[in-house]
Amino acid sequence: MTDCIFCKIIKGEIPSIKIYEDKETYAFLDINPINYGHILVSPKTHSENLLAMKEKDTASLIKTSQKVASSIMKALKADGFNLGMNNYPAAGQLVMHSHIHVIPRFKNDGLRHWPSKKYPANKDKEIAEAIIKCL
Ligand code: 5GP
Ligand code: ZN
Repeated sequence: MTDCIFCKIIKGEIPSIKIYEDKETYAFLDINPINYGHILVSPKTHSENLLAMKEKDTASLIKTSQKVASSIMKALKADGFNLGMNNYPAAGQLVMHSHIHVIPRFKNDGLRHWPSKKYPANKDKEIAEAIIKCL
């Protein structure tokens, strides 16, 4: 896609610090990392989000994420990592080209987990039924 910043990065028209690439995917350092070593993994074929991706791209995206996550653990002596994917602006997606965030985590790195809430009575079953109907 001509006007997409990540397509331009993948084509080398905008510089990036490449970590890995193969036929289907491109992994590079996030310019504003949550922790140092925060990597973005994108399919080379443009798609806006997970729901728009071809099955072969979803498979290779997770495979590359696994590969760079393993490298993060060794190279940075990370204690863990988060995989995250923001889909649609309501979920915080800023760049409309599918990508997975691979974020190194360290004991006591000060990052907090998402807040949680409790289900009121029967709401959990109601929600599950609605989701299952749409599968
Ligand atoms: P989103 O909210 O869409 O999941 O995250 C987009 C990510 O892309 C952000 O973490 C942001 O720092 C990163 N980003 C945006 N523009 C660029 C860029 O030009 N180069 C690189 N390396 N990362 C970028
Ligand atoms: Zn794109």
